[in-house]
Amino acid sequence: MTRQRYCDKHQNKEKENQRYYDRFVRDKKADRFYHSKEWQLVREQVLIRDHYLCQHCLKQKRVTKAEMVHHTQPLREHWHLRLVPSNLISLCNACHNQVHGGKKVAGVGPGGESKILGGRFHTPRPTFTQTFFPK
Ligand SMILES: [Zn+2]
Ligand SMILES: [Zn+2]
Repeated sequence: MTRQRYCDKHQNKEKENQRYYDRFVRDKKADRFYHSKEWQLVREQVLIRDHYLCQHCLKQKRVTKAEMVHHTQPLREHWHLRLVPSNLISLCNACHNQVHGGKKVAGVGPGGESKILGGRFHTPRPTFTQTFFPK
């Protein structure tokens, strides 16, 4: 039986004013972590466990490739859970942004705490829908 847990970042409202500090000091720590071998390994394990699929989409019966591994308990407040697979979930970009309330996540790369790098996945890029046809 798999119990999905929801991101509980909303419980941390009182920590709001700590964010300034977090952004400039702790992100360096997070940054180093996301580059560590341990993280790469655990992230890979989680992706395999989740079949490289976004678990939030899956709950809604949508099959979407996972684009990152998200910490269910935020890394900053639960540093000790950073490598615990039960605290990790594979998500697509859209769901990941939703989990974080549409805000960009500090970490590695623009908007992503743990973007999957390398050739395995396409990097989502803005789609330019050309509606203008020159005559
Ligand atoms: Zn998704
Ligand atoms: Zn996240």
